[in-house]
Amino acid sequence: MNFSVPDPENARPAGIPFEVGKLYHRQRDIHQVFGGQERGGIATPSGCPFVFLFTGASGEQFGYSDGWRSDGAFAYTGEGQTGDMMFVRGNRAIRDHMGGGQDLLLFEATTSKGSYRYIGCFAFAGWETLNAPDRKGNLRKAIVFELVPIIEAQPLPETSEEEIQLQEKPLAELRALALAAAASPKVPSKESPRTYYARSLKVKTYVLRRASGVCEACKREAPFLKKDGSPYLEPHHTKRVADGGPDHPSSVGAVCPTCHRLIHHGKDGAKLNDELERYLAGVEQSMDTTPGVSTSQGGPPRS
Ligand SMILES: [Zn+2]
Ligand SMILES: [Zn+2]
Repeated sequence: MNFSVPDPENARPAGIPFEVGKLYHRQRDIHQVFGGQERGGIATPSGCPFVFLFTGASGEQFGYSDGWRSDGAFAYTGEGQTGDMMFVRGNRAIRDHMGGGQDLLLFEATTSKGSYRYIGCFAFAGWETLNAPDRKGNLRKAIVFELVPIIEAQPLPETSEEEIQLQEKPLAELRALALAAAASPKVPSKESPRTYYARSLKVKTYVLRRASGVCEACKREAPFLKKDGSPYLEPHHTKRVADGGPDHPSSVGAVCPTCHRLIHHGKDGAKLNDELERYLAGVEQSMDTTPGVSTSQGGPPRS
């Protein structure tokens, strides 16, 4: 595979260097490139924007298995061979990946040794514990993660009903909703992908409102209006490679398509991303110190 290790100064690769459905050799294509634990289900190479999850036959011998649920989430069993599973190492990396600026990349074992199929990029949406036998046959608490596929934030052709309802809210309320939506569940909770995407939408709607029609990177007006008359800007996640999911509003900027392409593919992309990140931190900090952020800022775009 042709992918160079990003130097630490520009630690973000432009995109995810794996194609959904394609086969990769775990040792050669993943560990030789990114590092990380070569055994076990969860690899967490240091300084890498990805957490690698491997699923396959290994869980089944303990009496349970990973897989898609009917609601579209993927159930992924955590690591820990004996005793109760805890939120340490790989399990903690899954739970805290958003805050750590990492994406979860899921690979599925094939019948060919060492060969894995890339399933896609996922986000942690919740977990449950269930009693399952460990390697010694003793019943213990196993953590089953609920992972939701990250859908790249393609703007929908039509504004959804949920989005319209959100757009009617004042900025301060929208911000409160976004902050709440960005918090990862810290207690066992099952969340459907639908709920997860609804959380995501709250963050997106808030950052677009915050930008009020001006790109948060180049500070120019949005290049055009959408069919509904609102300015066209794209949400960009400054810490993770994938654009999607309910990140903290200080890690999501509303940017024009040119800045967005530049950040992901341009020579000075990392620099612009850094500048955007600093700008967002400042904006969010000033919101924190302004009690009851003025609702007048949140009026309809370009009125
Ligand atoms: Zn711009
Ligand atoms: Zn982006």
